[in-house]
Amino acid sequence: MLDSTSTILELLRSGDATAREVTEQTLRAIGAIQPTINAYTHVAYEAALNAADAVDQDRKAGRPLPPLAGLPVAIKDVLCTSDMPTTCSSNMLRNFTPPYDATVVAKLKRAGAIVVGKTNMDEFAMGASTETSAMGLTRNPWDEQRTPGGSSGGAAAAVAAGTVPLSIGTDTGGSIRQPAAFCGITGLKPTYGRCSRLGLVAFASSLDQAGPMGWSVDDVAIGLQAMAGYDPADSTSVDHEVPDYQAAIAGRDMKGVRIGVLRDSIDQDGVAPAIRTAVAEAEKVFTDLGAEIVEVSLQHSPYWVPTYYVIAPCEASSNLSRFDGAHYGYRHAAASTEDSIAPMLAKTQPLEAMYRASRANGFGSEVKRRIMVGTYALSEGYYDAYYNQALKVRRLISRDYETAFEDVDVLLGPVTPSPAFGLGENIDDPIAMYLCDLFTVGANLAGVPAISLPAGLDDDGLPVAIQLQAPVMQEARLLAAGAGFQSATTYHRMRPNDFVAS
Ligand code: GLN
Repeated sequence: MLDSTSTILELLRSGDATAREVTEQTLRAIGAIQPTINAYTHVAYEAALNAADAVDQDRKAGRPLPPLAGLPVAIKDVLCTSDMPTTCSSNMLRNFTPPYDATVVAKLKRAGAIVVGKTNMDEFAMGASTETSAMGLTRNPWDEQRTPGGSSGGAAAAVAAGTVPLSIGTDTGGSIRQPAAFCGITGLKPTYGRCSRLGLVAFASSLDQAGPMGWSVDDVAIGLQAMAGYDPADSTSVDHEVPDYQAAIAGRDMKGVRIGVLRDSIDQDGVAPAIRTAVAEAEKVFTDLGAEIVEVSLQHSPYWVPTYYVIAPCEASSNLSRFDGAHYGYRHAAASTEDSIAPMLAKTQPLEAMYRASRANGFGSEVKRRIMVGTYALSEGYYDAYYNQALKVRRLISRDYETAFEDVDVLLGPVTPSPAFGLGENIDDPIAMYLCDLFTVGANLAGVPAISLPAGLDDDGLPVAIQLQAPVMQEARLLAAGAGFQSATTYHRMRPNDFVAS
């Protein structure tokens, strides 16, 4: 099923397809791609069909239906679901089914969406390739020897391989936008606070945000409409009116819109020629639509990655302390003599030995690396040098954005330095993996909304993308600009060859 969200909704509304038919088709598509792509950690065969039947019965009885009635969606496995496991792709939570739905999941369900499954990710959303998953890696539907990106790699691949028209990812430092870019789809990271974080298993609480992923701006606008809004149960969600995003798209006018091009990013060494070309062509597209191009520099952008890689691990080390085998997570009952940490455990009290063994065996190595870095940076004597310093730089980074948005309406630049890299290429080199986030973490540090849009193919036939960013709570403006770009281009209609036939 490679159709867009609105096409499927139209089929359902007109009665040309029943929710059961659409769901069955989705489940068949998942079954066909799972053995190779491994986009899902859990498929809700029975629950999805039951939900579909309920929609069909309501439709038959003429009862009023919510806007997304019968639409299949996939949810990243970091968002709590009361009727399915929520593993964060970690052995730590392999058997965990939460007692409640994340607010964004509950809202999608209330809007009539059918949750067909949970998607694979880097363990606890730490990574840029979905290779740190304890549930096996996910492959890129455009080239199975390459990664789909991460950490929402399963969510991106689930759309690109034609299983669902809409998936929900999360983005702490680029995890919606980078996989969207690698998989040739559209991905939106909303403003921090636009969507509730209740039930989003926290990685870095001041940066995490859930958002929609689909083929086009129209798909993600439909997704955002259902997800966005204030949640009294999440004090970081913002009580700000949710506009009609599709109306904003329909009423768009690019004439006189000022687009700030992030020239410094594009000119950096190591940015692939195809990415440079994509941004240059996008400038032309926007100019032809009547927009005005302005050169913009975000002065502190060289500090984005170092600042992010202090703040995110610090928050992670605190958030992940709850997974100790007692409060939450996998419990390693007794250390066996085969455990590599057995000699150390022999010297500790039984309770502490249980904590240590549970954490040592439950977490993968990237998660442990982040916990250690964060614990170190927060420790007495280093707190001011690292964490406090990073918070000050974060303030400067936010100010750069505020200043830039005094002159321009949206920012244009790349999402990633390169198209999808090969499986195994960066997994043993954490710094190389962190540098994938070069252009994405700024939006998280400043809290602004940002979108990744398909913008062509490189010489190897791999998708390349552009990124637009807008001021806080200006998703409507961002979506309108993205829709403007997609009205003049066809890149969002490209599909991976292997999946067109199926
Ligand atoms: N790649 C980044 C990291 O590893 C971003 C992850 C994310 O956005 N969840 O931290």
